[in-house]
Amino acid sequence: MREKSRGVFLGRLAHYAPLLGVAMPALRLSSARTRWGSCSHHGGISLNWRLIFMPLPVVDYVVCHELAHLKEMNHSPRFWSVVEQLCPDWRLRRLELRQLARQIPNL
Ligand SMILES: [Zn+2]
Repeated sequence: MREKSRGVFLGRLAHYAPLLGVAMPALRLSSARTRWGSCSHHGGISLNWRLIFMPLPVVDYVVCHELAHLKEMNHSPRFWSVVEQLCPDWRLRRLELRQLARQIPNL
């Protein structure tokens, strides 16, 4: 499942990075219990491999969120407007992520 998740995430990053005009970031897989993604100051992105259990629109929300941090390293209104360019219904997807997070297998 981890290797499957890497392939899916790389595909979604390759789709969204050019839309945002950023270079394709390096991807790390994480398995933190409570974090779905993070973005380093060096421009790499970590995604939780357990996202593979989520519907693709939810995965895309996390991908867009972390890519947006390559432009805005904060959660300011400017950051959210970048997210919104890629993912106009991010509010719904974030809500769905929080709801589904309780049902993900504890592997
Ligand atoms: Zn964030």
